[in-house]
Amino acid sequence: MSGGDMLDFEIRPNPAPVSAVERAALLVDPGFGRVFTDHMVTIRYADGKGWYDPRIEARAPIPMDPASAVLHYAQEIFEGLKAYRTADGSITMFRPEANAARFIASARRLAMPELPAELFVESLRKLVEIDRDWIPEGADTSLYLRPFMFASEVFLGVRPANEYLYCVIASPAGAYFAGGVKPVTVWVSPDYTRAAPGGTGAAKCGGNYAASLSAQAEAIEAGCDQVVFLDAVERRYVEELGGMNVFFVYDDNTLVTPPLTGTILPGITRDALLALAAASGHQVVERPVSFAEWQADAESGRLREVFACGTAAVITPVARVRHPGGEFVIGGGEPGRSTSALREQLVAVQRGDAPDPHGWVTHIR
Ligand SMILES: *Cc1c(COP(=O)(O)O)cnc(C)c1O
Repeated sequence: MSGGDMLDFEIRPNPAPVSAVERAALLVDPGFGRVFTDHMVTIRYADGKGWYDPRIEARAPIPMDPASAVLHYAQEIFEGLKAYRTADGSITMFRPEANAARFIASARRLAMPELPAELFVESLRKLVEIDRDWIPEGADTSLYLRPFMFASEVFLGVRPANEYLYCVIASPAGAYFAGGVKPVTVWVSPDYTRAAPGGTGAAKCGGNYAASLSAQAEAIEAGCDQVVFLDAVERRYVEELGGMNVFFVYDDNTLVTPPLTGTILPGITRDALLALAAASGHQVVERPVSFAEWQADAESGRLREVFACGTAAVITPVARVRHPGGEFVIGGGEPGRSTSALREQLVAVQRGDAPDPHGWVTHIR
């Protein structure tokens, strides 16, 4: 690496990588999060020493002491983004600097050390370069990158740990919706909330997901696909799904999403869609939407479309909303035209099939 104080990665190629034949077989239908590449990134941190020993090495189990702090007090944060193989065979990543910035914000909230943004982006670049043959070819496929960091110090006292491990693993992902985008039914949880003011709702930490699983199980029990959370204070305003932000499209072409007041995860897909929607003639508004308003506007037909968004599925149409008092349908239950158009526009930019006026795409080699 050029550029002063950036750490140099030590590259230790996997001595026993998966064979080309076996890899091709795994890439036929990788699904999501089941297949992993040959390598991983590790960077260590210790108080007084800073970040040290950055490596690209064979993906392998991480030895862990049973008293490692993360196992007891959940000091853990993560990110998720994708690398794509474009039509001309080159490789891109979508907005890795935005993930780096969010990783720093999450680290601050969890009293963890901040990994410099350049080191974060460089770690992704290095992993994608060495594992480039694992990026699937074909529409809607990608290499999902999972950076994460946890408290590795061996200590049971309750305080911020003084040792951490940062890792990146990569997982080839097939088309999220094999056979076309499938609208989902969401469950409005009467019992559970996701995030309270002053809590960790805006941080991407494993603990938020742990706390959402009972609510997600309740949604499945109720015959739904995903849970949607209301605010923790008034139990009135729609916040987001367990791992996706939510948008409302009205018949006057207004696009509405709840504002980032600290209890909602600031999605990078959300941010990109706000920009794309504004550029394609939608009026874009960040404001609270109450559950009562949601139901009334769906029933009157004023609310035309609802969708959820995030890196994994990009955009998922919401067709139906179920709650303890009954259910209602959005726009006849079919994916709406703004939902489909925004999805196509965003995917085209991500895959290098459309111009990139915002400078969102990072090219790799
Ligand atoms: C990651 C995440 C999102 C989506 O963020 P993207 O950057 O768009 O992938 C939304 N909500 C929650 C709770 C998340 O963890």
